[in-house]
Amino acid sequence: MGMTLTEKILARASGKARVYAGENVWVRVDILMTYDVCGPGTIGVFKREFGKSAKVWDPKKIVITPDHYIFTTDALCNRNVDTLREFAREQGLPYFYDIIDDPRGHWKYDASRGPLVRQHGSHYVGVCHTALPLKGHTRPGEVLLGTDSHTCTAGAFGEFATGIGNTDAGFVMGTGKILLKVPETMLFWFEGALQPGVMGKDVILHVIGEIGFDGATYRAMEFRGPGASAMNMDDRMTIANMAIEAGGKNGIFEADQKTFDYVNERVAANGTKKEYEAVTPDADASYVYNKKFDLSKLEPTVACHPDPGQRKLARELGHVALDRAYIGSCTGGKTSDFIAFARVVKGRQVKIDTFGVPATTQVVQDLRAVKLGDKSVWQILVDAGVRMTENAGCAACLGGPEDTFGRVNTPMKCISATNRNFPGRMGNRESQVLLASPATVAASALTGKVTDPREFWS
Ligand code: SF4
Repeated sequence: MGMTLTEKILARASGKARVYAGENVWVRVDILMTYDVCGPGTIGVFKREFGKSAKVWDPKKIVITPDHYIFTTDALCNRNVDTLREFAREQGLPYFYDIIDDPRGHWKYDASRGPLVRQHGSHYVGVCHTALPLKGHTRPGEVLLGTDSHTCTAGAFGEFATGIGNTDAGFVMGTGKILLKVPETMLFWFEGALQPGVMGKDVILHVIGEIGFDGATYRAMEFRGPGASAMNMDDRMTIANMAIEAGGKNGIFEADQKTFDYVNERVAANGTKKEYEAVTPDADASYVYNKKFDLSKLEPTVACHPDPGQRKLARELGHVALDRAYIGSCTGGKTSDFIAFARVVKGRQVKIDTFGVPATTQVVQDLRAVKLGDKSVWQILVDAGVRMTENAGCAACLGGPEDTFGRVNTPMKCISATNRNFPGRMGNRESQVLLASPATVAASALTGKVTDPREFWS
């Protein structure tokens, strides 16, 4: 019996000829990512267990990206970033994407300048999961761990990527190893092409609706087939990103020429490790679930309150009035997400409060550079009435402190391009968050009700 993509990667990383689902194996880690919320805790565990003057196992394999609770006056949040800076300096970490340029300075957000104007320095990059590929830290066939559940995003690049807690991360920091149970694999076979106005987000919302928000608990979700091969890297990232919303241990696509081109370009531009070895699944690999999905039949899809498995079609929800629309996050804040949004709102006005938060600083630059007709994507959104911030980051995707840009502070209904909608996720516990594609969020912002974007798609 052969091995799945995930089994092949874990076999190689554990030095074995083969591994079996359910087996516990010691795995060599290629990249460990942490950030401002979990980083200080991880560092605390590392120092407690390995000693105050201990050195990390390999400085080049640790990536630290402040991104979560950044643009806030909350002093404890600001201090977390300072803790990361001190650690990066002490350990000589080359891949710390600091919010300020002074390695001995202190971070303080200046609320008097308002939330829209850039407040970060030149090294800052933005949301970890979109920053990792951008900065050349994702490679096919590798093992990437992060102190965040959406670390599974990097599975888009044909690698094993999953979230771990601070205790495990502290151990990885010191040893470069982790004990992992090999997950069973579910195969999602995609055929057909997406209709105009239907995006990768619709695919994963459809899949989660199919299996439930716990339908892949501790399983690998392997996405393959001609429909998967036809997808661009952004759509693959969106889909892998939300594997955890079905409880998945990881989500993974098979690396192909698109992956290699993307990765080779980013590692060359950033001077990161160039070598990697992709894996392919065996024809006789064993799957606990195996289902075909015809992508051409999918329609704009929404996950209703209170969890990502509450699947409905956008066109069935035209009666649902909304108070707010939000585009951003590692799931829905990429350049292609904003372009889709712009195609819908171009020349029109939003009817409800609408917030736009680019995932990375590169997205901010892209949106200023890319034009639809005679206007930049950025300008199209601003002219449509979207409040666009230059401060890329997680922002209101997970609520955060009260002064977080776009945070849902009162009971309301918000349609969002983010990935998670459990009660309180974007702030107020009485609020309701509906998850949708950037195109559906845009169309809904124009009407104030849940709206199928194909009505406005151009
Ligand atoms: S954008 Fe949201 S989902 Fe992504 S890392 Fe930040 S808080 Fe998590």
